[in-house]
Amino acid sequence: MRTDRFTFAGESLQAGERAHFELPAGRLPSGTELHLPIEVVNGAGAGPTVWLSGAVHGDEVVGVEIIRQVLELIDERTLSGVVVAAPVVNVFGFVTESRYLPDRRDLNRSFPGSARGPLASRLARTFVDEVLSICDFGIDFHAGSDDRTNLAQLRGDMEDAETRRIALAFAPPVIVHAKTIPGSLRHTAVKLNKRVLLFEGGEPRRFSLAAVDAGVAGTLRALQALSMIDSAPPAPLEPTLESGKTRWVRAPRGGIFRLECALGDRVRKGQRIGIITGPAGRGGEKVKASAHGLVLGHAVNPLVHLGDGLVHIAEVREAASGS
Ligand SMILES: [Zn+2]
Repeated sequence: MRTDRFTFAGESLQAGERAHFELPAGRLPSGTELHLPIEVVNGAGAGPTVWLSGAVHGDEVVGVEIIRQVLELIDERTLSGVVVAAPVVNVFGFVTESRYLPDRRDLNRSFPGSARGPLASRLARTFVDEVLSICDFGIDFHAGSDDRTNLAQLRGDMEDAETRRIALAFAPPVIVHAKTIPGSLRHTAVKLNKRVLLFEGGEPRRFSLAAVDAGVAGTLRALQALSMIDSAPPAPLEPTLESGKTRWVRAPRGGIFRLECALGDRVRKGQRIGIITGPAGRGGEKVKASAHGLVLGHAVNPLVHLGDGLVHIAEVREAASGS
């Protein structure tokens, strides 16, 4: 049992205490003030401080549900370390079911932010100062954007041995080694020497049950790998695949797209994976896989324009631990 206290937003929590916070997030043009909801679970035992962030893109609600379930499943009396959960970071986009803020700014391109910038920039700054800066490790939960759905996957710096160890413990269907994008939460976290994984799964404005289940079980396995909890669901029987290269198959013409593959399917280069027709069904053009690989994501809106991303293919290999 720890005796030291954990301080969050100027308030002191005892070991084994859970508390809810509402951080000022900014005002709407109407003057209405919105708040950033944070749940802090201060475990009875000593351990790392981990953040879980959802809905940085306001319409990506999969992470909100994953974090809600994880908060229900962990117990402050048996937890070692601290979980700082921010299920809805972009509170503005969440209420308007939008990826962006009301001024169309992307919160995930506004980090590390500034106390005197636009709304997105201030919100990013609040998150960095109050959450990121006090944590050791975190998982940022996302879903597909722009009418796309994603297979549950983790993105992160797999060259960092500890990040890789935790990602393998999470055991998602796929791990994608991905560079960080300047302005993103992940980029800022890395710059602050925090370890971070980005979870992707499902589509915006929907709960994809497969993605939610993979996210909840994987997060619990990651917390177990960090010695914060004693038990977690067993890893899936299918091995985790790893990818360093992904590519979109794009629409060779505009029209009505009919998908002929599913998330997680293995496809071969040149294989037919869909067809685009006109509304009357004539003049169809086959859509073919541009590489051997795994279907990582795909468009869900059948109306497509020339050049739209249709199917996201990952070139994969089985992930080997310890390499
Ligand atoms: Zn996102």
